[in-house]
Amino acid sequence: MGAGRFSRGDPVKKLFAVLMFALFLALPAQAARVRMSAPEKAEIGQPFYVELRSSEPVSGVSVTWRGQKYSFVPHDNAVRTVLGIPNSAKLVGQSLPVTVEFTFGGKPYRIVRKVKAASHSYPRQVLKVAPKMVNPPKSEQARIAAERKLVAAALATRTAGGVLPRPKDFVRPVDGIPTAKFGGFRVYNGTPRAGHGGLDLRAAVGTPVKAMCDGTVVLTGFHYFSGGAVYVDHGGGVFSVYFHLSKILVKKGQKVSAGDVLALSGATGRVTGPHLHLGINAGSAWLDALPLLGEAKIAPGVEKVYELK
Ligand SMILES: [Zn+2]
Repeated sequence: MGAGRFSRGDPVKKLFAVLMFALFLALPAQAARVRMSAPEKAEIGQPFYVELRSSEPVSGVSVTWRGQKYSFVPHDNAVRTVLGIPNSAKLVGQSLPVTVEFTFGGKPYRIVRKVKAASHSYPRQVLKVAPKMVNPPKSEQARIAAERKLVAAALATRTAGGVLPRPKDFVRPVDGIPTAKFGGFRVYNGTPRAGHGGLDLRAAVGTPVKAMCDGTVVLTGFHYFSGGAVYVDHGGGVFSVYFHLSKILVKKGQKVSAGDVLALSGATGRVTGPHLHLGINAGSAWLDALPLLGEAKIAPGVEKVYELK
């Protein structure tokens, strides 16, 4: 039976209580273990992940990258976001710091990691479009400038990030194969222009275009170069954009879930034919969407463990 085994005054129980109390005193008042993952090297124009996981709740999480600070609210003590080095050969060889800051037990903590910029060769793309799409008429200059401002304001939205999906978990906006990859230095009708800022996916006019992940619509419109365009904020300075749409089905300010139909694809703006242009803007840089769709390799993260006291 043993009903009296742990009765008051039982020497075994007393010893057990003393041991537990000694163990309690031996533990620091507050301790936590934080794991942070970031790559040591990343190629220009390619996305990479930064992840933070802590054993105890931390607050006030921010990530600073190339002079911009992005805030995060952890879910289940974790933060996962995407950053990238702009597609600029001038950055190759540089070591860029990614700084993670947070508060634990009322104390501020800071972790700094370095990401070395490596080169990536992007193909040259020669295209033929309507002449007005290479050298827009003077009458359209004011419109183009106004649209550029709207886009800059939308991409300056700073809502808190959380936990972004891993590559295999992002929704592919349309099923079509890539028809033009990201980054290719472009020559329009013989005139050189900047590298391609997105990934073109084959899509017949009228194909439903799905949101890659949960977010909030921050801009919609029919713009000179982009045509029908939807910009979605995923928090923490990460955006996905969808161009050349024929019909837009969402409004600015609308919350969307991964897989929601945002629009119908089309052939509006500067295009050679119908397709979806999918752009990723993260850490204030246009990045290749293919690695996030799990269709190209992504820089491997290196995890380090930090003990907090
Ligand atoms: Zn494109």
